[in-house]
Amino acid sequence: MQKEQRNLLCKLPQVDEILRNATVQQVLANHPRRLVKETVRELLNDLRERIRQGWVTAETDLSIEKIVSVLPGRVQSKVLPNLCKVVNATGVVLHTNLGRAVLSVGAREAIKDIASGYCNLEFDLGSGARGSRYAHVVDLLKFLTGAEDVLVVNNNAAGVLLALSALASGREVIVSRGQLVEIGGSFRVPEIMSQSGAQLVEVGSTNRTYLSDYEAAISENTALLLKVHTSNYRIQGFTCETTLEELVTLGKKRRLLVMEDMGSGCLVNLKSLGIGEEPTVSSAVKAGADVVCFSGDKLLGGPQAGIIVGRQEVLKLMKEHPLNRAVRVGKLTIGALEATLKSYIDPEIALREIPTLRMLTISPEELEERSEKLRGLLQAVLGNEIQVTVRKDLSEAGGGSLPTVQIPTYAVAIQGLKRGAGEWAACLRGGDPAILVRVHDGKLLMDVRTILPEETALIVKAFQKCKQKILSEL
Ligand SMILES: *Cc1c(COP(=O)(O)O)cnc(C)c1O
Repeated sequence: MQKEQRNLLCKLPQVDEILRNATVQQVLANHPRRLVKETVRELLNDLRERIRQGWVTAETDLSIEKIVSVLPGRVQSKVLPNLCKVVNATGVVLHTNLGRAVLSVGAREAIKDIASGYCNLEFDLGSGARGSRYAHVVDLLKFLTGAEDVLVVNNNAAGVLLALSALASGREVIVSRGQLVEIGGSFRVPEIMSQSGAQLVEVGSTNRTYLSDYEAAISENTALLLKVHTSNYRIQGFTCETTLEELVTLGKKRRLLVMEDMGSGCLVNLKSLGIGEEPTVSSAVKAGADVVCFSGDKLLGGPQAGIIVGRQEVLKLMKEHPLNRAVRVGKLTIGALEATLKSYIDPEIALREIPTLRMLTISPEELEERSEKLRGLLQAVLGNEIQVTVRKDLSEAGGGSLPTVQIPTYAVAIQGLKRGAGEWAACLRGGDPAILVRVHDGKLLMDVRTILPEETALIVKAFQKCKQKILSEL
């Protein structure tokens, strides 16, 4: 280290000296001493690092006043919630990084209600005896899927792990090579398989797997035929996939269980609404699968959960497996899930009440109208030198749902922004609430499909703020 840097490091004040400063005293009046002290240490560490890297010179102001000028903000950001609401203007309806499904009003109310007091989670109010936490959703899910029995766990990954552990540990599971899915976040079918103790037997090729491939791979050690929905990719062209019905017929003949990991698990027929080719859960149950599992927070539009439906005697093995306790769901999830599922009793109501379904099915006319409205408001804020236009675009379902399906939409495009679209996107992201947009070809794009009606005013305000901020820096 150079002499100048050593000198600078020696010049830095001590923590205790800083704590006596008036600004710091004010912060100490409102916040715990340990938190403030810790933050002061962080500030000093940052400075030391900057000195070592040569960013600080003899001319830099190293007064206590200067050092602590950022302290109030830093302490404040530590006590404010870090997990917070954002506005999603990307058009990706189920954005895993943005928390996937937006919950329905009913689900939100259920969470609030249940969180604020005791509840009958595992208590049967009729008999006054102990009850089951799953009881609140079992009948609903049976009604909606046609299945014999139901189990709910933390997420679908846990559901698959539990099913494989309970049904196939130490034995073989046959899967097509075209379905060795990676969902992201290291959820890969082969790895889940080895974690469960089941042995993966791959059959067929990437693009074509025939029933005869499964049949030839069956041994006395086979426990399960597994079909995995290729939820986030499609194999197109010269392809052949064995249907669930065919697997069920084979399973019956050879006395093997058949399971489908559906991934998204749709309860309404989106295909009939012109969106994608997603099979419904009830179609998989009807086809005769012993076990079907899917996510609660993908196309279903509910809370994070893994839903397992199927034959009673098979689900019994899962319920009794020790892992079930490790992946069980909490009361808030059950409450939100119950409310979400109630909307599905009438599919028409589900399309209105479940935000995920509503967003996916908004009419082009409404999207255009909303875009025009937002366009007008933003044009007024940004002034006439900036081009704010409405243009046709494509939305994605996202969240490992409906891959390759791009839904026509309308987006507001902003062009000619001073300092560039990237800088504006960063400014909007830094606001409260953060607004997430797309940047493409130097344009800032906002897809109104995922913007909730009440968020329009927030977006307009954010643009006003960023205009002030960015123009003041010019
Ligand atoms: C999304 C998905 C999972 C994982 O579901 P989570 O609820 O995110 O745990 C598992 N399998 C498939 C096929 C999926 O699409």
